[in-house]
Amino acid sequence: MIQLSIPLNFIGTLYREISTGLIDMEAMFKLLDEPAEVIDAPDAAQLLVSDGAIAFKDVHFSYDPDRQILKGVTFEVPAGKTVAVVGPSGAGKSTLSRLLYRFYDVTSGSIEIDGQDVRSVTQASLRKVIGMVPQDTVLFNDTIAYNIGYGQFGASREQVEEAAESAQIAGFIATLPKGYETEVGERGLKLSGGEKQRVAIARTLLKAPPILILDEATSALDTHTEREIQASLDDVSKNRTTLVIAHRLSTVVGADEILVLKDGVVAERGKHADLMALRGLYHAMWERQRAADAARETLAKVAAEV
Ligand code: ATP
Repeated sequence: MIQLSIPLNFIGTLYREISTGLIDMEAMFKLLDEPAEVIDAPDAAQLLVSDGAIAFKDVHFSYDPDRQILKGVTFEVPAGKTVAVVGPSGAGKSTLSRLLYRFYDVTSGSIEIDGQDVRSVTQASLRKVIGMVPQDTVLFNDTIAYNIGYGQFGASREQVEEAAESAQIAGFIATLPKGYETEVGERGLKLSGGEKQRVAIARTLLKAPPILILDEATSALDTHTEREIQASLDDVSKNRTTLVIAHRLSTVVGADEILVLKDGVVAERGKHADLMALRGLYHAMWERQRAADAARETLAKVAAEV
């Protein structure tokens, strides 16, 4: 009984933490002291980043053997450039970011950073060079200062405040009676989706990685918040190799290349203007989103007048 109670307690705590959203995926893997799917090769080397160029080469992947999610995806993100991935829900967009961060291994094909297969390097060295702004940032039950500084161990208060400024969340923090010492998370102040994302951006700015993965929030933000977030994202991705997983199209217009992923393959690729001229999938998605946005704004206006 005694032997059993420890792991059961642990699993119970872990389950509660996950279900109440207290820990993020990376922290969860750390807690388990073992990634769920991948382990370092015995001879794994340190990833050496010179430029930070990313290459997906004929990547196939499935979570379950009977359902293929990616069916031969090939693209490059040249050093310092931004590539955005768009496509219908469930197309496999976020899966690309999980594979690059190596939460899972490809079934076949490869993913390389500066010519090094991510499977041949240590996960610690890989994750050190990649900054991830996830869809839904999970905050630690601690102060805002801690949550921002988490990106860079030993960061000074000045650096934390600078990052908050660049991520455009400093103004909001200034309105809180306890400022940077405000407790957030499940037991503290609840932040909105946009505020949480800006904390994640500040965290990433402090980490200053050469490679960025921006996995946009699925939920629609109001236009003002979206513009603010876009401005800080543009700032953070400047001169960094950036892979944007875009659930909304308004954020991808300036990308160096846009990939339209559908049913696990790249169906269209090019710059915004090229894809609009194609009048294919991207064009149709754009028109649909524009109509939805217009309807949302009209509704908001009507609601404000009532
Ligand atoms: P969205 O725009 O809705 O976020 P997406 O294109 O980012 O979609 P993914 O999250 O990459 O889609 O998921 C692709 C497919 O893989 C989906 O059908 C999803 O149900 C499935 N999937 C995602 N995660 C897992 C998992 N851990 N186990 C099994 N299937 C999964």
